[in-house]
Amino acid sequence: MNPRSFTVSGIIIRMADLGESDRFITVLTPDRGKLTCIGKNLRTLKSRRNSQLELFSKVQIQFWKSRNNYYLQDCKLEERHPELKKNLASLASVAFIVEATEKLTVDENHIPGLYDLLEETLSLIEFYPKKHEVLREAYIIKLLSSIGTISSFRTCSECREKLPSESAFLDENHTTIHCVNCAEKKSSHLREIPLETLKLMHFILAHQITAVLKLKMTRQHINIIDEFGRTFLKHDLHYPLKSEAFLNTYG
Ligand SMILES: [Zn+2]
Repeated sequence: MNPRSFTVSGIIIRMADLGESDRFITVLTPDRGKLTCIGKNLRTLKSRRNSQLELFSKVQIQFWKSRNNYYLQDCKLEERHPELKKNLASLASVAFIVEATEKLTVDENHIPGLYDLLEETLSLIEFYPKKHEVLREAYIIKLLSSIGTISSFRTCSECREKLPSESAFLDENHTTIHCVNCAEKKSSHLREIPLETLKLMHFILAHQITAVLKLKMTRQHINIIDEFGRTFLKHDLHYPLKSEAFLNTYG
């Protein structure tokens, strides 16, 4: 076998045009992190491969490695999510999820559990379209935790003492969580985290994504985790995601 050629399965998290006829394809794989390859002539009408490659789909790709790039040699569709595309609100949520995943991860850097989390979340949004918002926001919190942006809501970022169950303070500039004592010593303004938010964050971080379906979520709860996730996301990215406009219209 040619050592420069290998096959992996993955979920397509980004597709972007390259020149007149080529395309970049980025997949999140179960054990090699994110991989990007160039698909030659993918945009020509005759390309059979083109119909196999769709955002959010699970595909098997045969890669070929040159000195500087990976190229798509062949591909096979493994799983499509047809129901996702019938509902604009779910579609907007999923577009947001995959874009955040793509932007927050690094090529060929494996993050344990992230692939399974993405696969499960896409399936859940497909089967429970009415729950797309809570699944989306819980996914973002878990994604931020898996890359280390959110460490814990259980201990103070500074003194490492266990946080009292009813009060904690967020430093939005550094995305750190502080106990009352450490917060009082800070010169910058810290935002108090309501007990309700702490409980929700603990729950999301401690459970599988499916568990959020069992939570009785009010609009207020969803807004809380939405706002929290965005605060951390903004800290990491410094720019809005492209899919946010789509999300604001349909999500
Ligand atoms: Zn402290």
